[in-house]
Amino acid sequence: MEQYDIAVIGAGPAGLFYAIHATGPGLCVLLLEKNQQPGLKLQISGTGQCNITHDGDIRTFLSRYGAHGRFLKPALLSFTNLALIRFFEEQHVPMEITEGGKVFPVSRKARDVCEVLTRECQDRGVLLRCGEPVSRAEKTPSVFILHTAGRTCSAKVLVIAAGGASYPKTGSTGDGCRLAASLGHTIQEIGPALTPLLIGNFPFADLAGISFAGLPFSVWRENHKVFDGQGDVLFTHTGLSGPGILDHSRDIRAGDEVRLSLAGPVQRDAFTRKFQDAISRSPTRSIKTIIAGLGVPERLARLLPALAGIPADSTGAHLTAAGRTRLVELLTACPLVVSALGDLSVAMVTRGGVALDEVNAKTMESKLVPGLFFAGEVLDIDGDTGGFNLQAAFSTGFLAAQAIRGRAETGR
Ligand SMILES: Cc1cc2nc3c(=O)[nH]c(=O)nc-3n(C[C@H](O)[C@H](O)[C@H](O)COP(=O)(O)OP(=O)(O)OC[C@H]3O[C@@H](n4cnc5c(N)ncnc54)[C@H](O)[C@@H]3O)c2cc1C
Repeated sequence: MEQYDIAVIGAGPAGLFYAIHATGPGLCVLLLEKNQQPGLKLQISGTGQCNITHDGDIRTFLSRYGAHGRFLKPALLSFTNLALIRFFEEQHVPMEITEGGKVFPVSRKARDVCEVLTRECQDRGVLLRCGEPVSRAEKTPSVFILHTAGRTCSAKVLVIAAGGASYPKTGSTGDGCRLAASLGHTIQEIGPALTPLLIGNFPFADLAGISFAGLPFSVWRENHKVFDGQGDVLFTHTGLSGPGILDHSRDIRAGDEVRLSLAGPVQRDAFTRKFQDAISRSPTRSIKTIIAGLGVPERLARLLPALAGIPADSTGAHLTAAGRTRLVELLTACPLVVSALGDLSVAMVTRGGVALDEVNAKTMESKLVPGLFFAGEVLDIDGDTGGFNLQAAFSTGFLAAQAIRGRAETGR
């Protein structure tokens, strides 16, 4: 049987980065990848342009992983966004910061990022084997035994970096969680995150493509408010998307009602007064023109009177009090019922994964199985849009490698 010091399952950003930083004199690292090439998901990230990280400070980062930011603190501090930018710049892939703090390679090619990682693995002597899905992992008292279709091998240290279960065509099909569970780990229920919302009978399907910057909204479940949100919202043919919706999707469930403030950040009473003033100033104008004059996109303004049951060319003078109330309702809290969330085939990341309380946040080592490590999206971590997921994959991969290097150097 082939014997290795370290075996890594999955050559995505987390596994590649781990392998690069774990190799060293006297450490033989085997990196097993299911696909015929490494980093397929990385190559399509940011629509192929790779939003690799964000330029925010550590406080910004910690607030962008839902309730699980705390766990990531040691990893994010061990390998920061600045360290990541420096790493790639030293490899002649310069980065630039764009609007909202997103960081991209200047070339806007995710492939460049993937090539650097693959080349570094080769240069540092990592044995990268593609087309080798790991089907089973066992722990004996001294080593891990791994089974692929063509081989069985052993390793003293095992790193599971096989990703989540979203976008399965990229190779991340939940194997990481299955392997971790078979070694005794608890898996928090997985589901789609950073995913669009499907709205039953979506009234704005004809407006697909319209987006709203910084739109306030609230999410309701059984008539109780779950949370208030704000962000860029995009109408699609089937419902809602855009960063503001995607970032909150981890906390939204089918059946919830999303109430959009289509008129922007304005309180209902203040908007009612503003609307009434506009009507009083121009009573002969059509309702749709008055609404458009209040900063609502014209195509949406044309649609709203009909949705409120008001004849299309009614003027302000014709508007009844009840009609005005219905319009104000639509403009400040337009209720849209979520029929479903986009499933794992369209979700950008996976919610759930290896339970964090069973993993040492300072080393990424399992608290249950010594010598077993985790890195990347296989963990119960999902970040917001903006580069937070790739940074988490790189930082957790780096921290786990640092733990192994530390041990190798001290001979433990
Ligand atoms: C369309 C899209 C766009 C995205 N854009 C961005 C972005 O711009 N910025 C950002 O921060 N994040 C983005 N993300 C999220 C980001 O790509 C992931 O969070 C990140 O790739 C996770 O890295 P990972 O190494 O943990 O897992 P993955 O990238 O999923 O890699 C895991 C690897 O393990 C392999 N594997 C799985 N099972 C096995 C097995 N049994 N044996 C061997 N190998 C196995 C897989 O084939 C895969 O190559 C995007 C995601 C998607 C889907």
